[in-house]
Amino acid sequence: MTEDNTAEQIVLLVTSLRRHLQRRERAGIRRLPRAQVQNRISPTGAVTNPMSGTEVDLFTDSTAVHRAENLEELRAAIGDCRRCKLWSGRTHLVFGVGNPKARLMFIGEGPGRDEDLQGQPFVGRAGQLLTDIITKGIGARREDVYIANVIKCRPPENRNPEPDEVASCEPFLKKQIDLVRPEIIVALGKFAVQTLLQSKIPITRLRGKWHTYHGIKLMPTFHPAYLLRNPADKKLVWEDIKQVIKEMRGENTESL
Ligand code: URA
Repeated sequence: MTEDNTAEQIVLLVTSLRRHLQRRERAGIRRLPRAQVQNRISPTGAVTNPMSGTEVDLFTDSTAVHRAENLEELRAAIGDCRRCKLWSGRTHLVFGVGNPKARLMFIGEGPGRDEDLQGQPFVGRAGQLLTDIITKGIGARREDVYIANVIKCRPPENRNPEPDEVASCEPFLKKQIDLVRPEIIVALGKFAVQTLLQSKIPITRLRGKWHTYHGIKLMPTFHPAYLLRNPADKKLVWEDIKQVIKEMRGENTESL
């Protein structure tokens, strides 16, 4: 099957599912049946139901995310999320922190161990480096900017997020961006950059140049964790951040 064919099939599937759900809604059916799913007993004796947490109102669950008017409402709409398989390994869902009206937003990949334990993005070693970029480089405070990730739950062993996990989580990030409405996004690392820009172009070619994400200026740069392994590239990140500072001061003459 060609890629075009697959895309067409997906669109058809989504359209027919949407119509099916609309028919159900008109008929007053708003919940997924649950009784057919058997409980499972784990080796430790814990009883779980694979549908647990998924018996949501089919319509209000997604529209609650959609309709959220502020970050608190969005966080509440996400709830004790079990929309993808990452929920079972997390300690905390890491939503995001900072100024809800920030001009500048940083977006990383997903929580690591420290973030998972503390429920806050970028609080480990890479986070310390990001904090230095914000405070020493930009001259702002962490609480002046907004910091979030593409994925809200830690993947096991810090592996790369999988496509179904990104698909489940991305609407939350989109809504976060929509609510904060920053002037500038700094996308940190290959994963965040390629996800936001829907591009397979290597970060080495994307970084240091302005892009746009739904009308918002976006500067891709290397991930702080990469800089811990490759400190010589800190100077490149500093070049990128200097462009961000200029843009925030209204001094950037480069056309976007
Ligand atoms: N790396 C990320 O991409 N995000 C975090 O929050 C921490 C490490």
